[in-house]
Amino acid sequence: MEHPILIKNATVYAPEKLGSRDIFIAGGKIVAMEEKLDIALPGLEVIDAAGAIVTPGLIDQHIHVTGGGGEGGWKSRCPELVFSELVRAGVTTFLGVSGTDSMSRSISNLLAKVRGLKEEGASGWMWTSNYSYPVTTITDCVKTELFAIPEVLGVKIALGDHRSSFPSMEQVRAIVADVRISGMLTGKTGFLHVHLGDFPCSFDIFDAIVASGLPIKHIRPTHVARHPKVFERAMEFAKKGGMIDITTGGGCYMGTAADAVKMALDNGVPLDRITLSSDGHGSMPRFNEAGEMVGLATGSIMCDMEAVRDLAKAYGLETALRPMTVNIARALCLPGKGEIAVGADADLLFMTDDFEITDVFMNGRQCMKAGEVIVKGAFEE
Ligand SMILES: [Zn+2]
Repeated sequence: MEHPILIKNATVYAPEKLGSRDIFIAGGKIVAMEEKLDIALPGLEVIDAAGAIVTPGLIDQHIHVTGGGGEGGWKSRCPELVFSELVRAGVTTFLGVSGTDSMSRSISNLLAKVRGLKEEGASGWMWTSNYSYPVTTITDCVKTELFAIPEVLGVKIALGDHRSSFPSMEQVRAIVADVRISGMLTGKTGFLHVHLGDFPCSFDIFDAIVASGLPIKHIRPTHVARHPKVFERAMEFAKKGGMIDITTGGGCYMGTAADAVKMALDNGVPLDRITLSSDGHGSMPRFNEAGEMVGLATGSIMCDMEAVRDLAKAYGLETALRPMTVNIARALCLPGKGEIAVGADADLLFMTDDFEITDVFMNGRQCMKAGEVIVKGAFEE
């Protein structure tokens, strides 16, 4: 167990602004938080956070932790994520996801990677399956997958995309029905995490599923800002009570993820229906002026904080943090995540006034100190 820590004089955004607080951490949890705390304990580390902004760690629900890509041939398969990338990005909780490649990227491998990152110190869950239909699972059954594997919160599928398997409404509805039942039995809720392509027809499928009587809360589209018509339908979906996920790592037709959030808010989408995720370690093809692919890069999860910074400049930090903290924690029913409160997990970031991360705590363990990563993954230098 980690040693107890008393953080003094922090300017806390929980994400709501609380002002100056002392935070006492023990056993990976926030045990006490007051304007002033005086505690004497053997082995207690006292950290003076005067001048620092302290926020919850970010939650990124879409990271290709085993590497995505593969759409440009064998050499285009993206590398795996390593633990220190999570630390640098301030992502203390993640969901692992698979993509187009349902052949070489097995779901067992994804589960093993998620568990490895958890052993290294992060909090992690995953979506089973990938772009394909029928779904690709470890247990050959969607209901069993959620029931038997604690990390699996739901199923991923691709719709409205040229790389999708083009399942029918009835086929998608059957998956939603299965995740709902297993979600009830396990207390996980159960979700269908939907990769959206450029064609808005996916929303006709969602409308028909909801009209059948299945609650909208089980349907979770991502990459919603990639195309004007898709985004228009996504904003309608959110106004009807759905959650929409905007990608920070590019693919927003109007510019940045912050621009997409602004457009959604301007169109009357409530802030608590919006989440952000990176699509990190997916492939990012680079094109020249003639539109020819000239190179491939791996998507970075650092763009999450870029989006937070952009939003903070427009709306203040309190609003900027919500899509990647409390909104997503509530959307995925992750108790103890996404906020700074007594009883919550001690996942904390220290930031400068310019919102640069200097210190990171995951479950009460300090992983970054004064800008330097001090806890690395098993195979990192
Ligand atoms: Zn992706």
